[in-house]
Amino acid sequence: APDGRPAASTPRIVVVMVDDLAEGVPPVAAEFREVDPAEPQLSVQDLGPTRGDGVFETVGVKGGRLFALGPHLARFAKSARMLELPAPKLEVWERAIRHAVAAHGGEDIAAKFVMTRGIEGTGVPVGWVTVFESGDFARPRTEGVSVVTLDRGYRSDVAETSPWLLQGAKSLSYAVNKAVLREAARRDAEDVIFVSSDGYVLEGPSSTVLMRFGDEFVTPAARQGILEGTTLGTAIAFLAGEGFEVRHEQVPVSRLADAEGLWLLSSTRRAAPINRLDGEARPVDRDLTERLQSALADAPEGIG
Ligand code: PLP
Repeated sequence: APDGRPAASTPRIVVVMVDDLAEGVPPVAAEFREVDPAEPQLSVQDLGPTRGDGVFETVGVKGGRLFALGPHLARFAKSARMLELPAPKLEVWERAIRHAVAAHGGEDIAAKFVMTRGIEGTGVPVGWVTVFESGDFARPRTEGVSVVTLDRGYRSDVAETSPWLLQGAKSLSYAVNKAVLREAARRDAEDVIFVSSDGYVLEGPSSTVLMRFGDEFVTPAARQGILEGTTLGTAIAFLAGEGFEVRHEQVPVSRLADAEGLWLLSSTRRAAPINRLDGEARPVDRDLTERLQSALADAPEGIG
């Protein structure tokens, strides 16, 4: 639009700046404030945009319920610790997130919350919450996704040998996680499973891998420098109800060929079955996938 404001068709977004955001950091103002999404809020010197130096979370929201908010907040604090950022005041963040979700009021939405290191040299982090419509995930949720395996170039013990690489933190440095989607598209696929340089299954660029071998469900062990998924917690609870245990294990990439079912789990898509892996068609258990999807969509807030 000529005045610089989003056109009427722009999807609705609610923006809340979090002012009293971290321990040991004097609050800029009261706890948080809703701001005009068309107005600029960030300095061009902020280390979030200039260096990807910060942490974030994305929570799925349906009918006002925030899925696994507790685990998301805990992971936010863990990522902040890994990046040596001040500890976020989680009670304030929770109030700010709930306020933004209520202000948006949409049915199937997502809340993203971000804390950056702020302007270089100040030591004052900057934080905000945005709430927006979720993408249209109908097709990946039911039809599934075509996936390729790509080498991440790190060994599976990278989290222990080189913690400064921040593997397992949900940092803002997601350019690589987006670049791999373009590489997937060049290979005629939609998503990716990262593989360690020593040949183990890791995770997707925005998802946790769940594998089925007979009556066994397996997911890669978090100590391999991968993010601990919050959706996985709800999936584990659902599968336990079905009589299945989910084991955390190091899985050699060659074993993927034997899997009877493969899924990518994440807060927004919930459980996307993999229908093609490295160009080979893969079986999709539609019945189980549908039930898993409903369990994730209807989960009470507390689980995860
Ligand atoms: N792994 C990575 C790298 C991610 O970015 C995400 C989520 O975006 C996940 C796994 C899945 O986590 P969650 O289930 O909490 O969305």
